[in-house]
Amino acid sequence: MTLPPIKPGKIVTMGEVLVDIMAVERGRGFHEPLNLKGPFPGGAPAIFVSQVARLGHPAGIIAGIGDDDFGWLTVERLKRDGVDVSAVRVHDDHVTATAFVRYREDGERDFLFNLARSAAGRIELDAPARALLAECGHFHIMGSSLFSFHLIDEVRKAIEIVKANGATVSFDPNIRKEMMDIAEMRAGVELMLQDCDIFLPSGPELLIPTASRSEEEAIAALFALGISAIVVKRAARGASYYDATRAIDMPGYKVTEIDPTGAGDCFGATFITCLRQGMEIEACLRNANAAGALAVSRRGAMEGISTLVEMQALIARSAPA
Ligand code: ATP
Ligand code: MG
Repeated sequence: MTLPPIKPGKIVTMGEVLVDIMAVERGRGFHEPLNLKGPFPGGAPAIFVSQVARLGHPAGIIAGIGDDDFGWLTVERLKRDGVDVSAVRVHDDHVTATAFVRYREDGERDFLFNLARSAAGRIELDAPARALLAECGHFHIMGSSLFSFHLIDEVRKAIEIVKANGATVSFDPNIRKEMMDIAEMRAGVELMLQDCDIFLPSGPELLIPTASRSEEEAIAALFALGISAIVVKRAARGASYYDATRAIDMPGYKVTEIDPTGAGDCFGATFITCLRQGMEIEACLRNANAAGALAVSRRGAMEGISTLVEMQALIARSAPA
């Protein structure tokens, strides 16, 4: 199957906007008083959509915040980046989602989320959301947003609307193996695999959804589901692109990793945006790898977002002499 034609319009996403509050000291969990730093605006869909806007492509998000400082902080940040926030609903009976994050000594992270019972758990296709979907040319979903059957239902309805209008759909699973044991996550991933045109897994996420034993087996199974293109993120090693006729590997850029948060989101946003701007797949991969590399070289989820000029400067610096 080849990539569907590009329908003009906004890149729209739907899901959690939240604030990250980070432990300053490394260690495990939050069992004792700690020095914390934050709030920082975040949430995978928020990072994704801000990166799209930073590349100059029209972008919008369907989300929910509480009428509180955490919510307004994230909305102000999205607005500053040029994101259409007309479908961010303010709930006066729920608070903005939060993620407390602590790094372990080995670089893994512990999270303490307030998500399902926050304003982010109340997202629904109200009139402003439907108005934004009417302007949508491409719709992107992150696996982290499929945390309740309510959200999965709303995402399903949104996909029906945008597909009927000729828009394309992409999905970044952002899942770990254990999550497939959670009924909501499994249902959400299955829905998205049926409906997405472009699938953007990272490493093992390629094999998990189809329970495949090799990349070849997984890619064949995903094409059989009707997916047109697969982009595999391979951290420092870069990324690979697959469609019915092409397999393209693109090496990553050498940078010092400071904070991996948001690399996959900036990568995905850049790949999708460049593709919609008519660039060749190789150029989309190079820019997306540069976006991911710039994201890991800066601390803070949304601080890692960069412009095309910054991406191209990194590419030029890294070119073989
Ligand atoms: P996330 O932790 O945000 O979910 P991910 O697991 O989805 O990330 P990764 O493969 O870790 O995705 O990173 C996405 C992209 O960012 C990679 O494909 C690569 O282009 C770039 N990248 C990530 N880590 C590094 C690194 N250490 N050095 C250079 N580039 C990197
Ligand atoms: Mg990811």
